[in-house]
Amino acid sequence: MTTTPEKTPVQTPLTAPGEILHTGAADYPGLDEWRRLPIRQQPDWRDHPDFDAAVGELSSNPPLVFAGEVDKLKRRLAKVAQGEAFLLQGGDCAETFAGATADKISARVKTLLQMAVVLTYGASLPVVKMGRMAGQFAKPRSSDMETRGEVTLPSFRGEIINGFDFTEESRHPDPKRMVQAYHTSAATLNLVRAFTEGGFADLRAVQQWNKGFMENPAHARYESIAGEIDRAVRFMEACGADFDGLKRTEFYAAHEALLLDYERALTRIDSRTGEPYVTSGHFVWIGERTRELDGAHVDYLSRVHNPLGVKLGPGTTPEDALALIDKLDPQRDPGRLTFITRMGAKNIREKLPPLVEAVRDSGAKVVWVTDPMHGNTITAKNGYKTRQFDDVMDEVRGFFEVHRSLGTYPGGLHVEMTGDDVAECLGGSDIIDESAFDSRYESLCDPRLNHKQSLEMAFLVAEALTQVK
Ligand code: PEP
Ligand code: MN
Repeated sequence: MTTTPEKTPVQTPLTAPGEILHTGAADYPGLDEWRRLPIRQQPDWRDHPDFDAAVGELSSNPPLVFAGEVDKLKRRLAKVAQGEAFLLQGGDCAETFAGATADKISARVKTLLQMAVVLTYGASLPVVKMGRMAGQFAKPRSSDMETRGEVTLPSFRGEIINGFDFTEESRHPDPKRMVQAYHTSAATLNLVRAFTEGGFADLRAVQQWNKGFMENPAHARYESIAGEIDRAVRFMEACGADFDGLKRTEFYAAHEALLLDYERALTRIDSRTGEPYVTSGHFVWIGERTRELDGAHVDYLSRVHNPLGVKLGPGTTPEDALALIDKLDPQRDPGRLTFITRMGAKNIREKLPPLVEAVRDSGAKVVWVTDPMHGNTITAKNGYKTRQFDDVMDEVRGFFEVHRSLGTYPGGLHVEMTGDDVAECLGGSDIIDESAFDSRYESLCDPRLNHKQSLEMAFLVAEALTQVK
């Protein structure tokens, strides 16, 4: 028996059989099969007068990432699958066009780098760094429509599709937004590459990353680790060591491959190998609501060569997990497939073991990542969507406990976070309570860990990882 993820209506196939639209990767066999399959969570915009032009423009634009980088990431993830590295994925639930500013991007990258330093130093493991960034613009929704008072309008689906403002005009899907998402992603990626390659990520500046953040216990602990790293780096320099790994870092871009019109238009054939790659980001994942085995998303992503993630919620059966492996990673290629589990703190100790055991016994080598956010969402008394920091931490602990007891490797952490001092998740050592939401809640979608909560989480994970090794 297979279970299906949360139900929203299945839409009818988007084109008539045999009809091929706007292929970025022209007529590569099978790439348009998804158009004939049931698909969820897509806007109904094929007849919009701007649809063809938007898809045409994306199809002829340059790729955002290169296949060679994507392959390198797959090799890094193979190390994670073998227990020799750890994967850190973090960023907004939903990026916004207005949020793509230098300040916000640098704060987010800086926070991820700080978390990575804590993990690398604390657990003596290489950390693969990846942002939910430069493409995280499309959101699955539990309902197609939203009602406020007397008014019912289409739900907000992420700025790549429609606007957040609750007006008829803003909520109308607009295909030109895909082009804006592409350009915003390009600008974001450009800045991230400049930061991480051009000196900003230099470990000799590790103490400076903390500047501008207020005092709190997580920051004080970070300062002390940063001081130790600083001394170690200076010692190596004094000995004449000068290696590149200290000065720059690899940083990868990831997002949910939800909007298939966009992903298809940005698919390119790699000239080296003749294989198709999604070039909207290095790593893409299939969400909990669109991971049906016979659906369009699983089919499409089975045909591209990027490393893939699949979110697995508490309804996942061992048979579902094994069938996803057969479909998405038939060659059992380490690094190809990452399972991102989002069970909820209450479920993880019961629901995760049967999945991990079945996969382990099948001999497949997937990367196991915990997303401790999406199974722990609650509504606060004042109406905001939020999460308790303690629940989030408890799911992470449960994830490590399960892997420890089964002798498998807990390979990574996937969090919704920001570098800013927002108030969206409750708790943390510098306690956030509901009264702060009115002035410091900025997310258009799910609540994120703020800077301090993110660092605190990194310390917990570093400690847990030390026990694994
Ligand atoms: C998300 O990552 O923002 C998301 C919608 O997750 P999930 O598919 O796990 O619900
Ligand atoms: Mn989310």
